[in-house]
Amino acid sequence: MTVTAREIHLRSRPEGLPSRENFEMVERPLEAPKEGQILLRNLWMSVDPYMRGRMVDRKSYIPPFQLGEALEGGAIGRVLESRDTRFQAGDLVSHFAGWRDHAVIAGEGARKIEADTIPAQAYLGVLGMPGLTAYAGLTRIAAPKPGETIFVSAAAGAVGAVVCQMARISGCRVVGSAGSQDKIDWLLQEAGVDAVINYKTVPNLQTALAKACPDGIDIYFDNVGGYHLDAALALANEGARFVLCGMIAQYNAGPDLPGVRNLFQAVAKRIKLQGMIVRDHFDLLPDFTREMSQWIADGQITWRETVVNGLENAPEAFTGLFRGENTGKMLVRLDDS
Ligand code: NDP
Repeated sequence: MTVTAREIHLRSRPEGLPSRENFEMVERPLEAPKEGQILLRNLWMSVDPYMRGRMVDRKSYIPPFQLGEALEGGAIGRVLESRDTRFQAGDLVSHFAGWRDHAVIAGEGARKIEADTIPAQAYLGVLGMPGLTAYAGLTRIAAPKPGETIFVSAAAGAVGAVVCQMARISGCRVVGSAGSQDKIDWLLQEAGVDAVINYKTVPNLQTALAKACPDGIDIYFDNVGGYHLDAALALANEGARFVLCGMIAQYNAGPDLPGVRNLFQAVAKRIKLQGMIVRDHFDLLPDFTREMSQWIADGQITWRETVVNGLENAPEAFTGLFRGENTGKMLVRLDDS
């Protein structure tokens, strides 16, 4: 079978918040799959904040996207044709050739998923990379104990919402921050979070956080950086653990980014600040999948998703992450059903 793929390419490197002009749609005929390869029709693709870092031409923990090539990222596809004995036509797989409607990939890069009881796109969110990030950060770095207070920034996002609920299951008092009343209502009423601060409307985040955390902060799960990190440092208890997962507040910032002012608190309070990259924790995948599936089945973990339709709208879905347009996982639906 030969097909023509529609792919989103990076046309130019963005400065500040990316815009439509930084992306272009390209049609490309695909060669038929060779031995060990599979041909896929993508049904869902993920847009994630870390992709902004890959649009910059610099050395980092993952190579930059190349101009004139298809972007990549998590996706769920259906196998149309297989020349890998592990897969057959009709299988649903999770893989990394997102930002396109069709792809030919090596079978090694695909993982079969079961979507009988859980929707397929959950493997891009609560049961996928963001869920694993939350799981690894909490279990390996934060190690929460009952009665401790955890503060989670971007609490209504894909990672943050899982962190909040796992911490609640661990018996923590959970305090989040989010940027809209709708997100706050969901976190309080459905996700079981104890208190949520609207960081966009409070006059002073640190003052609001002090009120929400009368016993101080034992764990800070940082998705935002900037003044969120400063406020958490100011209110941390001795021996607090900080999971440095992401710093979305600075991904589109220029070189005159303000520094962290309260870092000395890490010395005075013997705080452990540990950065993490999810791919260092892929060995946790079997434990994570088992435990998360059980929590979902027991109704202990719930989720929301924000869906944008159509590959052509993927750039807007991506930039929407920086405008807070998603509650839970931001997804792009690629099939027509
Ligand atoms: P989210 O689903 O949380 O989406 C991003 C959210 O961040 C937005 O909805 C918005 O919510 C909030 N936000 C955007 N800009 C700002 C800002 N300037 N200040 C404060 N909040 C902002 O994304 P993910 O859950 O996928 O990712 C969360 C973080 O985790 C990111 O920093 C990401 O880079 C990081 N990450 C790190 C990984 C790792 O391996 N280290 C793996 C996966 C994610 P609101 O309305 O609340 O402002």
